[in-house]
Amino acid sequence: MKWRGGFTRLAEGVYAYIDPEGTWFKSNSGLLAGDEYSALIDTQYNAVRMQRLLAAAGERGVKEPRLVLLTHHHGDHAWTTHMVDAAVLAHESTARMIESMLGLDPSMYKALFPDLDFTGARYRVPDAAFTGEKLVLRAPGAPRAEFIHVGHGHTPGDSIVYLPGEKIVFTGDLVFYRVTPLAIDAHISGWIEALEKLLDMDAETYVPGHGPVTGKEGVREAKEYLELVLKEAERIAGSGEDLLEMAKKVRLGRFAEWGDPERIVPNLERALMELSGAPPGQPLPNIMETAMKMIQYKRWLQRSG
Ligand SMILES: [Zn+2]
Repeated sequence: MKWRGGFTRLAEGVYAYIDPEGTWFKSNSGLLAGDEYSALIDTQYNAVRMQRLLAAAGERGVKEPRLVLLTHHHGDHAWTTHMVDAAVLAHESTARMIESMLGLDPSMYKALFPDLDFTGARYRVPDAAFTGEKLVLRAPGAPRAEFIHVGHGHTPGDSIVYLPGEKIVFTGDLVFYRVTPLAIDAHISGWIEALEKLLDMDAETYVPGHGPVTGKEGVREAKEYLELVLKEAERIAGSGEDLLEMAKKVRLGRFAEWGDPERIVPNLERALMELSGAPPGQPLPNIMETAMKMIQYKRWLQRSG
């Protein structure tokens, strides 16, 4: 599934940088252009992609970022902050996750994604973190923006950037559109509640973490996918089968057409844990084993056409 990618102007001083595939590690960023500097919403996962984003912004006359807002801690949104001379801001939960992952070597993902280039991929702890509901940004000449923590959905620190004047929301990975959401670190019922909050907002345009820019329909679809995962988990739970076999039984319906459908494997595992009463934030028991099953599921899908 593909759509138009690249640098898109959404409103005066508001830009989205959209990846045309939105698959693993290929994420979207945003930029709020001010008179003296810009604020970057999420980085890219490696040095080449980050350089490309900064060059595209420069070509359009957008001033260099002096602020970086991280919607969550995942590497495809938070690595490469070291490439800009900017203060990095995030919710305290995101900052804590990053702090706990400083020792992680991104090249370990090569085992799963041999074609990806992890040059320049590394974490840096945010310079400042907020603990309340929101932080209001007042960069001179840039649209007024609210950086809002919406709870534990996709990750513990999920924060959106809301522009009330422009009715635009940068959702981070709370919204995946036309790409399968990934629930490895998620609290699925919390995620559904967060999406309900997003739907209730006075907004018309939503920039997802992966996938094309959308309206409320994209938010609704992400919510319907998560509801389907919980419902299917309830139906399948208790069969005593292996996770892979259970995942094969999930009826994805129209979501089978979305990119990376194999994510149903960790998503189902997360949903089953949640149904059995696991608290939010409890890691999947064996992430590498789950990843291997995901690859097997993908092969099975390809074989069954
Ligand atoms: Zn993410």
